[in-house]
Amino acid sequence: MALIVQKYGGTSMGSPERIAAVAERVERARAAGDDVVVVVSAMSGETDRLIKLAKSVNAQPPAREMDVLLATGEQASIALLAMALAARGVPARSFTGAQVHILTDSAHSKARILDIDNERLRACLAAGQVAVVAGFQGIDADGSITTLGRGGSDTTAVALAAALKADECQIYTDVDGVYTTDPRVEPRARRLDRVTFEEMLEMASLGAKVLQIRSVEFAGKYKVPLRVLSSFQDGPGTLITFEDQGMEEPLISGIAFNRDEAQITVAGIPDRPGVASAIFGPIAKANVEIDVIVQSIGQDGLTTMSFTVHRNDYAQAMALLAGVVADLGARSVGGDDKITKISLVGVGMRSHAGVAATMFEALSAEGINIRMVSTSEIKISVIIDEKYLELAVRTLHEAFGLADAKV
Ligand code: ADP
Ligand code: ASP
Ligand code: MG
Repeated sequence: MALIVQKYGGTSMGSPERIAAVAERVERARAAGDDVVVVVSAMSGETDRLIKLAKSVNAQPPAREMDVLLATGEQASIALLAMALAARGVPARSFTGAQVHILTDSAHSKARILDIDNERLRACLAAGQVAVVAGFQGIDADGSITTLGRGGSDTTAVALAAALKADECQIYTDVDGVYTTDPRVEPRARRLDRVTFEEMLEMASLGAKVLQIRSVEFAGKYKVPLRVLSSFQDGPGTLITFEDQGMEEPLISGIAFNRDEAQITVAGIPDRPGVASAIFGPIAKANVEIDVIVQSIGQDGLTTMSFTVHRNDYAQAMALLAGVVADLGARSVGGDDKITKISLVGVGMRSHAGVAATMFEALSAEGINIRMVSTSEIKISVIIDEKYLELAVRTLHEAFGLADAKV
């Protein structure tokens, strides 16, 4: 008998029929003799609806109250799934994050899980019941409800699997695994049978929202066997694995993209020590994260600094820089929030040269201008105009033969 944690996302819980289908899948796992803990998301569209509702009441809702509101989406889902299971004669019990003591820090809307007390879940399983746990939410030391950031139910599932030492954590979603790129953008994308934690971590952090990045970090840290599957059809899905020495490494495993960035350029900065910290200090202080940074080689004593921030932070960062630029005596500050970052990810890049050259050549053949480049051991990212996103993804998918490669 195995202990399985199954997580069902918003689309998988999106209607009464879909909830019934989830209940059936859970029943099947139990019939196979497994103990099952189920983590669910809010019904699709519900979290967005609640955010809109909050903003219609207060343009800047207090973070604590926002979390109280958003957590209701998952609370509705656990009750509905427990009811659907009961309708099939499957004994089940629903739990909010607080009821299973998912203790987090107090960073509302992006809280981190600190501890889970799994006693109640163990008792529920020992009593022969399915435990249905609300994803995305926890409770802080003061007893306030917190949420884990968009897509956070993945992290709840993996954290519970780690705490319970589950045999597998299964993430059921609306695609049947992790693909070479988002199949909504490139219909020729191919499902990967396996992907390494390292690659999955990069893909998630670079924009592939199929798994929340924290969930992959958790799974890697606590060695949780993790699989992504479809809730709509049966199949093997994609297994997230530790690097397998015997496996032939594909050069590129996937292409990720992120539409949430904006570019800021400060031009004509007097080129002297301390200017970078004068520019980035105030931004860091405001908790705005910087992603790609490019500084041009100074000419005539002047230099240019370009970097990207999250689109949500764009206006704030521009406002902060207006003052800094005046103090520094820089010429201008400009920006563009219609950009996108596209990244190639693959552990095979470590041992192969020429990936960047092939990437740049393929993009230039389509007339796509590269504004910024950033590389690390197993990824190359470029910033381009947002309007070229689809064309760029498809061009690179083709250039690296991702549709046909056999893993
Ligand atoms: P859920 O609601 O089940 O959590 P999400 O919408 O968060 O589902 O994640 C699944 C979506 O992730 C897919 O519908 C797909 O469009 C998108 N996606 C992005 N990149 C990839 C990828 N490389 N492989 C599979 N899906 C991807
Ligand atoms: N409901 C939350 C969201 O939409 C959490 C999740 O679905 O994982 O982001
Ligand atoms: Mg998700």
